Amino acid sequence: MRILVTGGAGFIGSHLCERLLGQGHDVICLDNYFTGRKVNVAHLRDNYRFEQVRHDVTLPIFLEVDQIYNLACPASPVHYQYNPVKTVKTSVMGAINMLGMAKRVGARILQASTSEVYGDPIIHPQTEDYFGNVNCIGPRSCYDEGKRVAETLFMDYHRQNGVDTRIVRIFNTYGPRMLEHDGRVVSNFIVQALRGEDLTIYGTGEQTRSFCYVDDLVEGLVRLMNTEADGIHLPVNIGNPGEFTMNELAHEVAKASGKNIKIEHLPLPQDDPKQRQPDITKASELLGWTPTVPLAEGLKKTVAYFAETIQI
Ligand code: NAD
Ligand code: UDP
Repeated sequence: MRILVTGGAGFIGSHLCERLLGQGHDVICLDNYFTGRKVNVAHLRDNYRFEQVRHDVTLPIFLEVDQIYNLACPASPVHYQYNPVKTVKTSVMGAINMLGMAKRVGARILQASTSEVYGDPIIHPQTEDYFGNVNCIGPRSCYDEGKRVAETLFMDYHRQNGVDTRIVRIFNTYGPRMLEHDGRVVSNFIVQALRGEDLTIYGTGEQTRSFCYVDDLVEGLVRLMNTEADGIHLPVNIGNPGEFTMNELAHEVAKASGKNIKIEHLPLPQDDPKQRQPDITKASELLGWTPTVPLAEGLKKTVAYFAETIQI
């Protein structure tokens, strides 16, 4: 197949491009390089099945493809809050442009949605039928609401125009090729531990997240894209149900890096969700998918990546 990956030069996108090329597909990596980097896909450029396109998904484009993975959107709070209006445009206009193209060429299209659609959840763990608890006017809203509208568009293009859609709600994912200054907690803690700096825990550190290693996530994305079943157009959670407080994560990073860590507490950002854990019953029943990489193992691989690539 010929497959388009928007946001293909980003953290998750680059792993997905690699995986799809490995399966023998032709892959077009589309990116505007806001948070993505050419170096993330440099090792793929000798493969004649791989193409790169510099393009912004807020503008229309026409490419003859069989499948589209729509990943284009900054994912770290630091990056998506840098230009919030652009973040909304990327999610909403990007979804409209990619769905319009999917409709014209008859491609199947998968949207990278997020656990952020649940906001600061009151239901725990989060199931796909939970409507969420989202602030529509706060600093995270550009991302959360943009992704919620994108889900609405995916469902409406499916119901109204018969577009073959998939929606995946991705929970916190980590691994090699996260940006050093990304601002997300796993990369921050690892870079700080390797440099002997204090680990910055926001608030008490008792808020929780569930961390999925990128290889497990990519497996889930590919399975969802290629599964046909009743209800397959409705959102599916993909994430690792192992739930950790940020204090626990700091200690896991200490173990994985073999460093003695010191902690600095900083203020908790506004609207920071207190807890997050995916219910993955649907993914396991529909796709036969469960994560296989425990946090300790995934952190070791991520530590090795940063130890090789950053200046210490
Ligand atoms: P990332 O920032 O590394 O990748 C996003 C990519 O999209 C980058 O390459 C960036 O340059 C590109 N991009 C941004 N705006 C664009 C635009 N207007 N046009 C074209 N390209 C654009 O982030 P990631 O962690 O790889 O996330 C990929 C997708 O998965 C995002 O849609 C994100 O919302 C979603 N997601 C990620 C996580 C996570 O924990 N990593 C969790 C939930 C959802
Ligand atoms: N966090 C932290 N220290 C950091 C970066 C983040 O304690 O240096 C916390 C943050 O407040 C949140 C959690 O870690 O509670 C996850 O943050 P991240 O930005 O990785 O993802 P998100 O909040 O989008 O789930």
